[in-house]
Amino acid sequence: MKNVIMCKRCIYDENVPGISFDMEGICNYCRNIEEMEKIYPNDEKGREILNNIINKIKKEGRNKKYDCMVGVSGGCDSSYMVYLMKKLGLRPLAVHFDNTWNSTTATENIKNVLKKLDVDLFTLVADNKEYDDIYRSFLESGTRDIEAPTDIAYTATLRKVAEKYKVKYIIEGHNFRTEGISPLGLLYMDGKYIEYVHKKFGRIPMKTYPNMKMARFIKWMIFSNIQMIRPLYYIKFDKNEAMKFLSEEFGWKWYGGHHLENRFTAFCHSYFFLKRWNIDSRIIGFSALIRSGQITREEGLEIIKEPPYLEDDIVNLVKKRLDFSDEEFERVMNLPKKTFRDYKSYKTTFEYMRPFFWLMYKLNRVPKSFYDKYTRKLI
Ligand SMILES: [Zn+2]
Repeated sequence: MKNVIMCKRCIYDENVPGISFDMEGICNYCRNIEEMEKIYPNDEKGREILNNIINKIKKEGRNKKYDCMVGVSGGCDSSYMVYLMKKLGLRPLAVHFDNTWNSTTATENIKNVLKKLDVDLFTLVADNKEYDDIYRSFLESGTRDIEAPTDIAYTATLRKVAEKYKVKYIIEGHNFRTEGISPLGLLYMDGKYIEYVHKKFGRIPMKTYPNMKMARFIKWMIFSNIQMIRPLYYIKFDKNEAMKFLSEEFGWKWYGGHHLENRFTAFCHSYFFLKRWNIDSRIIGFSALIRSGQITREEGLEIIKEPPYLEDDIVNLVKKRLDFSDEEFERVMNLPKKTFRDYKSYKTTFEYMRPFFWLMYKLNRVPKSFYDKYTRKLI
């Protein structure tokens, strides 16, 4: 068997899209994180930056019911985020996009944490028939991007609600030190891509789906003046400690793995990526934890040998809800492999607009990872 080249620091190997290794055998993703460590320090200096941000949010939101919003999923990072924002004296509104595939644990977690913290919740519930039709069409598309509809809808929902309540700051629980950044070219999503794939493969019209078309995206970035803030970039955050704290304080429950708070996401990460694409997406999170010293490289390699956790009957649930017979599902899992390039998308437009998005990144209107991934020409 051919020896697979693996990064000397993390557990990304040569099969990860867009990877390269330097003279020391360290991969470009580890180097990218080193660069991010410098941009977003989590020492004293980071605390100071975060304090300044928090003070600015407080000041600007003085006469409003809510001074910021936090997107919640029932997962560890976003739950912790709500707690932290309250502790720092903000008045957040929690926002949840419910694609109707939540696990019971996730729903309970959201309820328990918000109730004890006395934080209001705004939930946008998807039309499940329409939503399942969009999921179905992505499975039919032959691409890997079957979770794109959720990510786009989540982003659009946050901005819609921010507009409605005139909130200028959206707080995100993302943390590159513990979650990592997914490899370039691994996944792709944008509003045009979603609309096109659904038009091509869908069976019912898209009426209520909160899509993010270019005009809206630009409007939200420029005119609504909505800023995205990721506080966990500036503080020391130990995932295990946070989970322990959340369980003791709020009765929060762990659901078996990163991203698994949603049943379709669980299907995507623990079954679809692995079976159809031979991608174990757990390497992203484990590599991040290795880089930040929360587990050792050996531990990471050991855990990855075990198959990912998959709730019983998830595959049957997907077949049933998306109306696939066993044969149809087999066919879909074996379709010729496609990418977003086989369909219409905004990718070329994003590339043309690279200087504009650089400015948007500098103004906190889009995350750095968006600028890095979407505006760069991929080989
Ligand atoms: Zn690496």
